Amino acid sequence: MASLLWFQGGACSGNTMSFLNAEEPSACDLVTDFGIDIAWHPSLGMEMGENAQRLFWSFARGERPLDIFVFEGTVIMGPNGSGRYDLFADRPMKDWVTDLANQAQIVVAIGDCACWGGIPATAPNPTDSVGLQYLKRNKGGFLGADWRSKAGLPVINIPGCPAHPDWVTQILVAVASGRTADIALDDLQRPQTFFKTFTQTGCTRVQYFEWKESTEEFGQGTRKGCLFYEMGCRGPLTHSPCNRILWNRQSSKTRAGMPCTGCTEPEFPFFDLAPGTVFKTQKVFGAIPKELPEGADHLTYTAHAAAARVAAPKWAREDMFVV
Ligand code: SF4
Ligand code: SF4
Repeated sequence: MASLLWFQGGACSGNTMSFLNAEEPSACDLVTDFGIDIAWHPSLGMEMGENAQRLFWSFARGERPLDIFVFEGTVIMGPNGSGRYDLFADRPMKDWVTDLANQAQIVVAIGDCACWGGIPATAPNPTDSVGLQYLKRNKGGFLGADWRSKAGLPVINIPGCPAHPDWVTQILVAVASGRTADIALDDLQRPQTFFKTFTQTGCTRVQYFEWKESTEEFGQGTRKGCLFYEMGCRGPLTHSPCNRILWNRQSSKTRAGMPCTGCTEPEFPFFDLAPGTVFKTQKVFGAIPKELPEGADHLTYTAHAAAARVAAPKWAREDMFVV
C-alpha cells in the first residue's frame, strides 16, 4: 500500500474541492481499488490535535515510510523568511514541507499555487509566497532547482486553478502503482500526457478561430464565434487538456462561452490582473492580437487572418448549432 500525505499551504482549498469531485478514478477508488493509504488530508484525515501531530512527526522523522507527499497552495516565507504567516501543527508550514518533501519517494504539487506561486505570489506578493520548485517561470522555488525526491525525481507539477480532478487522481494512481517512470514531464515538470496539447485542442469554436470570426460580447450565444479576438481567450497559448478531458465529463470554459484565462501556465494571472487586462484581448495597432498562438509570428499571422476573413463562408458568421 502506498502511503500518501496531503498538506495545504497558502491555499483556497480549491484543489481539494476539485479532487473530491474526481470521477475517473474517484478519491474513494484511490483507496478501495488502487490501495493508496491516505494517511492524512485536511478534509479527509481522521486524526486531530496531538494525534495528528504524532502522525506528522512519524513521517517527518522517517519512522514511517512516506511514498507520496502532495502539497496544495504556496509555501509562505513571510514575514522576513520566518514562515510564521502560516503556522500549522505548532510550527511554520514551510518547515513541515522541508521535512516531508525530503522523506517522500515522490512529491506532487497540485494547482498553480504549489507549482509556481499562482495568485498569492502575484505582485506585491505580501506573504512572500513561492511554489515548491518554481516561482512563476523561474526554476528554484522553495526546494531549489536541483532538489530531487528520494526516488530521484523533481516535483511533479499538476497546475491549474484548480487542477482538473482526474489529472490529479490519474497521476496519483500511476505513481502508487509503480508506473512513475512512464510519466514523461515537460520542461515545466508537468505530465506531458495532459499538458502537451493546447486548451484549444478539441474546442468546439475552432472553426470560428480558423475563419477569424469573433464573438463580440458575452451572452452572444454560447457557441457562435471564437473568444480569441476580443475576449482574451488564451486557448491557443495554454497547455491543458480542458477540451479533451471535459469538466464534469461534459463541458469546458470555452464550450460554455468563457475565455480560457491560461491557468495552467506559470504567468497566470496574466498582467498581474491590471484593470482592462482580464477577458480582453491585448492588441497592437488597435487590431492585431499582441499575443499570438504559440509558434506564430505577427507578419504571417496578419496575412493569414486577412485572407481567412475574406474567404470566410456565410455560416462562419452564424451560430451553426441548434439545440
Ligand atoms: S474559443 Fe479559445 S480555445 Fe476555442 S477556438 Fe477560440 S481561441 Fe481557441
Ligand atoms: S480552460 Fe484555461 S483557464 Fe479554464 S481550466 Fe482550462 S486551462 Fe485553466
